[in-house]
Amino acid sequence: MDTYLAAANLTKRFDGRLAVDDASFTVVEGETIALLGPSGCGKTTLLRLLTGLTAADGGSVTLAGETLTGPGVHVAPERRRVGMVFQDWALFPHLTVEKNVAYGLSSEDEAAGRAREALDLVGLAELADRYPQDLSGGQAQRVAVARALAPRPRVLLLDEPFSNLDTELRVKLRSEVAGLMREVGMTAVFVTHDQEEAFVVGDQVAVMRAGHILQQGTPTEVYERPSSSWLATFVGEANLVDAVAGGETASTMFGEIRLSEPAWGACRVAIRPEHLLIGNGDDGRVANVEFYGHDTSYAVQFEATCVQVRGIAAPRFRPGDRVSLTYSGPEVVAFSEADQPERMPSQAH
Ligand code: ATP
Repeated sequence: MDTYLAAANLTKRFDGRLAVDDASFTVVEGETIALLGPSGCGKTTLLRLLTGLTAADGGSVTLAGETLTGPGVHVAPERRRVGMVFQDWALFPHLTVEKNVAYGLSSEDEAAGRAREALDLVGLAELADRYPQDLSGGQAQRVAVARALAPRPRVLLLDEPFSNLDTELRVKLRSEVAGLMREVGMTAVFVTHDQEEAFVVGDQVAVMRAGHILQQGTPTEVYERPSSSWLATFVGEANLVDAVAGGETASTMFGEIRLSEPAWGACRVAIRPEHLLIGNGDDGRVANVEFYGHDTSYAVQFEATCVQVRGIAAPRFRPGDRVSLTYSGPEVVAFSEADQPERMPSQAH
């Protein structure tokens, strides 16, 4: 499919320090990309480069074939038709829902009924005359999305829009907003530091660290084929274990495991806790058990390593029990010994 929005080699320095470092990603029309990264890695700055509110030091932004940012080019923010939903999506309490949505629209857009149209899109047309205090948290969030959709942006950027909400509402809203984006066919960039949220909302996920996009792919690709050991542990839980690769497979403390790409020699592989089966045996000793209701987490002392294991059943073993661990999962990626999770990407090679 054709790329609709592309950020290529974007760079931004503040006082000489790189906030965005050679960052690139692409989005297909109608899809949502989740920009996932730890706090302070440059996600908001990258969004601001897309809006044009911050000028780039290098790199380019193209949208629907038009260069918005590039060498000698900087299209003004108001001419980009890029919408934004911020962390503090507060509505004006003294304005009705419709007036809130119409706020900031040009007089032509307002006359064209764009506020009503956007409320229709988010399914709130019948609440147009209500005031914000008479809305549920979820409805208020949808009004904020309608406000961003009203000027018919070509892309919608959402910057941690649920970070101020409690967990229950957040979980409900993230699937609702993801559904809404798909329904209206909106191309969107959704910033979050929460892996689960990124996977639920994003058709694609771009993982960012220290200003750089390390990997872009579908949630499954990023989870099953992480491009570095840091990424393997940032995107979900992973046991990084020593291995010796011999082409198609690697020998590990859990036996031979198939590799997604051939490799040779000393390496490490990332083993997901849910891909280890725990049973009666004498490989290791259970050090800790946590039961979450829907699953159980075990810490197992296996040789010199403490291994995390996840089982879907209620606890079958107790601390002190001797157990066996067997690998039962997909092919794994081999990471070179130089690839240490604590190292920054630029230090890895
Ligand atoms: P969070 O998830 O905490 O919001 P983030 O990933 O969005 O963080 P940014 O807000 O983009 O990260 O910040 C990236 C880096 O750039 C930080 O070190 C930040 O302090 C710095 N930074 C951002 N804006 C400015 C600015 N206007 N002047 C100087 N430094 C800035």
